[in-house]
Amino acid sequence: GGRLPRPSETRVMIVANQKGGVGKTTTTVNLAASLALHGARVLVIDLDPQGNASTALGIDHHAEVPSIYDVLVESKPLSEVVQPVRDVEGLFCAPATIDLAGAEIELVSVVARESRLQRAIASYEQPLDYVFIDCPPSLGLLTVNAMVAGAEVVIPIQCEYYALEGLGQLLRNVELVRGHLNSRLHVSTILLTMYDGRTRLASQVAEEVRSHFGNEVLRTNIPRSVRISEAPSYGQTVLTYDPGSSGSLSYLEAAREIALRGAPARQEGNQ
Ligand code: ADP
Ligand code: MG
Repeated sequence: GGRLPRPSETRVMIVANQKGGVGKTTTTVNLAASLALHGARVLVIDLDPQGNASTALGIDHHAEVPSIYDVLVESKPLSEVVQPVRDVEGLFCAPATIDLAGAEIELVSVVARESRLQRAIASYEQPLDYVFIDCPPSLGLLTVNAMVAGAEVVIPIQCEYYALEGLGQLLRNVELVRGHLNSRLHVSTILLTMYDGRTRLASQVAEEVRSHFGNEVLRTNIPRSVRISEAPSYGQTVLTYDPGSSGSLSYLEAAREIALRGAPARQEGNQ
């Protein structure tokens, strides 16, 4: 793909929605791969014990592999767990193993438990344009760590009934973290996923989301596409699995929008 403007500093994108199955992981890996294919250096941090993002990127994440658990709980440097993603230059992954399931509880007694991930990213020495954090479907300490580590929350919304249900809780958590732990945190991006333009329901949901959120909603919707759902079982993103498919093109376009919007202007008071 053509080059896109690179951010002047690393943009940390927190992909969150406490509902499962809305497209968080799919959005994480495909936006990350799209930006890398446009020449950016991108790190995906898999923060879900299921390890679906690691799987989708073809990254080994059996129990013995050094993982984000070691970083969060054992203070291992992030650089010691990061692996390159084959087939996509500039794309890297910090995998999750099943150990991470225990981290929610183990972190409770760890010093600076909310800012473990933020510290790990801050001491990572390789240059990065983007970090994408794939959050678990919950609002516990792992998601709080993600929200402390970055400025931009990305919310994938599945175009179905009850799409907006539960979002209030997510938005309140964003407010809480902003108020107490990370003043830069805000919802920067909303992406409509699994969009089926033939159904009236999908367009109604899309309209509702757009009128509720406005500018944060990307113009590009991600269509429901079999190619998108097949790619992970080959350890690939749809960008390499089927580059010409509608799913691939839509993620490229969504990534382009994100890059062109750039990091939003800083508020007064922040340097
Ligand atoms: P989450 O991480 O929020 O739980 P996933 O990204 O794992 O959600 O997506 C849930 C399921 O839906 C997966 O099986 C995934 O392959 C599938 N899926 C996600 N996006 C699409 C899409 N645009 N079209 C078809 N299937 C999709
Ligand atoms: Mg997931």
